[in-house]
Amino acid sequence: MNQKSLIESVPKGLLIGGKWREGGDGRTIAVEDPSSGSTITQVADATVADGRAALDAAVAAQAEWAATAPRDRGEILRSAFEAITKRAEEFATLMSLEMGKTLAESRGEVTYGAEFFRWFSEEAVRISGRWSTAPNGATRLLTMKKPVGPTLMITPWNFPLAMGTRKVGPAIAAGCTMVVKPASQTPLTMLALAQVLAECGLPDGVLNVITTTRTGDVVEPIIRDPRLRKLTFTGSTAVGRRLVEQSAQQLLRVSMELGGNAPFLVFDDADLDRAVEGAMLAKMRNIGEACTAANRFYAHEDVVDEFAERLAKRMGALTLGKGTKKGVDVGPLIDAKARDGVAELVEHARAQGATVVTGGRPVPGRGYFYEPTVITGVAKDARMMTEEIFGPVAPIASFRTEAEAVALANDTEYGLASYVFTNDLGRMIRVAEALQYGMIGVNQGIISNPAAPFGGVKASGFGREGGFEGIEEYLETTYVGIAP
Ligand code: NAP
Repeated sequence: MNQKSLIESVPKGLLIGGKWREGGDGRTIAVEDPSSGSTITQVADATVADGRAALDAAVAAQAEWAATAPRDRGEILRSAFEAITKRAEEFATLMSLEMGKTLAESRGEVTYGAEFFRWFSEEAVRISGRWSTAPNGATRLLTMKKPVGPTLMITPWNFPLAMGTRKVGPAIAAGCTMVVKPASQTPLTMLALAQVLAECGLPDGVLNVITTTRTGDVVEPIIRDPRLRKLTFTGSTAVGRRLVEQSAQQLLRVSMELGGNAPFLVFDDADLDRAVEGAMLAKMRNIGEACTAANRFYAHEDVVDEFAERLAKRMGALTLGKGTKKGVDVGPLIDAKARDGVAELVEHARAQGATVVTGGRPVPGRGYFYEPTVITGVAKDARMMTEEIFGPVAPIASFRTEAEAVALANDTEYGLASYVFTNDLGRMIRVAEALQYGMIGVNQGIISNPAAPFGGVKASGFGREGGFEGIEEYLETTYVGIAP
């Protein structure tokens, strides 16, 4: 299918109670191609009333959905996994067009994102409880699991498919109904996913999708509605904090997958080939726009110069361009604000005396490109060491001792991903135990895995997605005391 027909084939409306329809006041959202700034298409812009209607539909479908056999729920996920895999090229192209990343990266996301459906299709039939005898022998204790209930899901633009399937998969498996609000910059992938799920037999009202630019106004009344039982959010820490406050009124079950500031530690005993390879993945995956992106590189003083030189050589050789074009390694950033923000961080570090080894400039012309950049001698308190860069910039600093490396790594309010390169087993264990992070990659630059619990600590949020833990976020525990 060519790009024009592909975009035409995606539904552009709101999905409410199994029906696609326009927003209440007929307004639309322009979806932009970040490599040129031009408009790709328009999708519906939901009103507050549309948001309420989506929740009405999720509430109406909840009881029947919860009573649907786990195997049937699992089979819907399994067929959706197969359908996405079959249409991998279409999903990859859509993501590259609306988000900007290269086709190779988008294909990787399709595999990763679809795998959550396969994983949770298998988990749907493994929801279980417990039976035990009370310590005094007088009663029996039956523990059972039930779906939490209608759930609001808010997702970001950086992984338009996977951030959705990571939530939708376990919710379907557990028997929860949903209102999903994808990022307004990348709505097409979620709309295409909703269409696939409907084709695979997901009953009307189980998954409702609203796209809107009036985000806060539309979302807050849903969060404050007593019929909603869970909120799951992936996005920035600032918005996450606000949503947690809003959710307090209803004491909602809440999962927060927030921002990161990942340290990348290279010890003097590390295999430098692997460290450079890992650094390329940890930094450049998704153009640096990943919550798990290595944000701060700390290398031992004996290897820092060689590490920086080799990383700069690799980064400097990357080709920028439109994600769907052959031969391109790095796409544009999502918008002008993101590009200008990255430029500001680099200028700030430079003003503090840091040295730009490669890159260091926004690319003039159309689209929101920023050069892959390596910058050394970065001060500990430079803004790029404390804030999420969310772009293709690798700041490098040095350390002398293991204790200093750990202290530098933990010196942040965030706690999502971290990376350690060492060939010393004892050090690996000591450092992994000391790092205050939800996820630690050892001698590898990618840690996301549908079979593992993804999530953070501290200002990176709470709750886990994927692994055996992922479905628990969508289940309540009920205990029944039985006197025999
Ligand atoms: P964002 O601005 O927080 O937006 C994320 C989502 O929240 C979007 O759907 C957005 O809708 C919505 N939103 C914005 N303001 C809102 C409000 N007042 N009330 C309710 N919803 C609101 O974050 P982003 O820039 O899209 O994403 C980047 C951030 O996500 C980074 O910090 C990154 O680290 C984090 N992230 C975390 C993980 C993780 O698993 N921990 C994964 C990926 C990304 P609109 O698009 O309509 O504004």
